[in-house]
Amino acid sequence: MTTTVWIAPSAKSFACLCEPCLEAARIAGVLFSDALAGASVRGTIAPEAETAVAQCAAGHQIVLRRVQRPSSLTRSDGRQLQLA
Ligand SMILES: [Zn+2]
Repeated sequence: MTTTVWIAPSAKSFACLCEPCLEAARIAGVLFSDALAGASVRGTIAPEAETAVAQCAAGHQIVLRRVQRPSSLTRSDGRQLQLA
């Protein structure tokens, strides 16, 4: 299970939540605030990079994709929570 995050064309940094971590925390009954803290992933992305891969603290892959073509918007997932 990979989290895909769509980022703005000019973004140089990102902040998102790792979905597998959120799900694991939900199953474990962790406090929501703790789950959010544990699943929070932040980082930077090169301005010229169209895609990049980040990892959460637990090692899950997070794929960063830059929104550029209108057609890519159709694949955007409303479940993704983009914080920045
Ligand atoms: Zn994770």
